[in-house]
Amino acid sequence: MSRYNDAARGAPEPEVDTGGCYANGCPLPGAISESTKGGGPWLCRFHFGHEPIRWPEITETVREAMREREPDHARARISEPADSGAF
Ligand SMILES: [Zn+2]
Repeated sequence: MSRYNDAARGAPEPEVDTGGCYANGCPLPGAISESTKGGGPWLCRFHFGHEPIRWPEITETVREAMREREPDHARARISEPADSGAF
């Protein structure tokens, strides 16, 4: 019983401000808010000022740009053994 309580207490609260962009899946930190009083939602500079319906599209662009900035990842994918030739 106490174990369950501990787990519940240790669970991350969904309303905690993680500092990330409000757009779903955006890897950037949320730096800009429409509210001048310190409230959310907070958006990155790419999502700010755009309609929420366009956010997924912008998120894709941001993620792609970040992928290009990480050559290590691309290299790892290329050097991956595509065919082990077991058969
Ligand atoms: Zn964003």
